[in-house]
Amino acid sequence: MKGNRKKLIDLTGQRFGRLTVLYRAEEDKTANALKGGAVLRPRWVCKCDCGETTTVIGANLRAGMTKSCGCLRRETSAENGRKRRARKKRKSMGEAKAAGGAADERR
Ligand SMILES: [Zn+2]
Repeated sequence: MKGNRKKLIDLTGQRFGRLTVLYRAEEDKTANALKGGAVLRPRWVCKCDCGETTTVIGANLRAGMTKSCGCLRRETSAENGRKRRARKKRKSMGEAKAAGGAADERR
């Protein structure tokens, strides 16, 4: 009897952040064998809300480490950049200067 095989947690159809698990990705059995059969890392093909498909290690999904295909991170950093830039907005005082000045000298 083979009692060696670890029970696989089926993540199909589950949602993790923006990702919905579609199906299990093919295992890299050769890589696993080279490592002496250490840890089996099942990977899952997930569909992101943005439309991208990505392959994620199941452990990362369950740990909440991977919540998108990468677009979430891109959006967050883009938003931060936008906020920083908005604060730097300066008022243009050019027009006010041009209108004043000469009026006071006329006594
Ligand atoms: Zn995405």
